Amino acid sequence: MASQAAVGASDFPVFVPPSYLRRIEPGNPADPLLLQVWPAAAEAESPAGFTDDPVEDASFALRPGLLQKYAGRALMVVTGACAIHCRYCFRRHFPYDETPPSERVWDAAVEALREDATIEEIILSGGDPLTVTDPRLARLAEQLAEIPHLRRLRIHTRLPVMIPSRVNDELLSWLTGTALTPVMVIHANHAQELDDEVAAALRRLKEAGVLLLNQAVLLRRVNDTVDAQADLNLRLIDLGVTPYYLHQLDRVRGAAHFEVSTERGREIIAELRRRLPGYAVPQYVQEQPGVAHKVVLA
Ligand SMILES: *Cc1c(COP(=O)(O)O)cnc(C)c1O
Ligand code: SF4
Repeated sequence: MASQAAVGASDFPVFVPPSYLRRIEPGNPADPLLLQVWPAAAEAESPAGFTDDPVEDASFALRPGLLQKYAGRALMVVTGACAIHCRYCFRRHFPYDETPPSERVWDAAVEALREDATIEEIILSGGDPLTVTDPRLARLAEQLAEIPHLRRLRIHTRLPVMIPSRVNDELLSWLTGTALTPVMVIHANHAQELDDEVAAALRRLKEAGVLLLNQAVLLRRVNDTVDAQADLNLRLIDLGVTPYYLHQLDRVRGAAHFEVSTERGREIIAELRRRLPGYAVPQYVQEQPGVAHKVVLA
């Protein structure tokens, strides 16, 4: 067992910030937060269909570090680093070494965006873009704001939930200091992740005028019950965050033990619709390579 867990861990090392560790219930091996970060022996299993690049990101690169799959939106991989390693991550085998976060790579991506007037929205992603320092992000935001056809700056990040103190004055300043409309998509999978410190960080973002959305991944034993989903989504609403997407797990090698069937996922969503206000029910979606949008399952 231990050696199998180590196989998973050496492939993608355990990495968890103390602020997240404190929210884990000591002595509970089934804690929904622990399960997201602890390398299970099952990671060594690789059932057919679970691959290294399940969403085929590698084939959608416009430039190193810049992906476009959908009309009007481009996604910039600004870094490979994250504040946490989520065991189910679809980018756990992403070839980040080929896309280092150097100024040169960023400048080339900005140049490509400038040349494509169909792109209205830039999504900063990763890895987690907020692991990069604020002076560098501020410079990038300024460069992006100078592109006349760009309207929205969207950040995909787990940091406000992982390390809420990351939401500091400098961040708010560059995020809301340009003409671009700021959108932030956070990532919480369980209500227990959303403690008072996270609530305070989200309130600061909200008060600064940032549109706040959440994406979650449907994960076996973590949040695959109606109660867990109801608690998560209602807590998000209370914190000013609109539930956006509940993702079907991408079939990445090492994550098969997190998979929930789409039948079960649809049942959960159907029951949520009976219980919650419509605005508290996320769209249950799946990434299907080659489709021009995320596919809505329910
Ligand atoms: C998910 C995703 C987006 C954003 O899609 P939305 O439906 O607008 O949230 C953009 N680019 C890539 C490559 C994506 O995977
Ligand atoms: S924070 Fe996001 S990108 Fe980073 S390991 Fe977790 S799921 Fe993957």
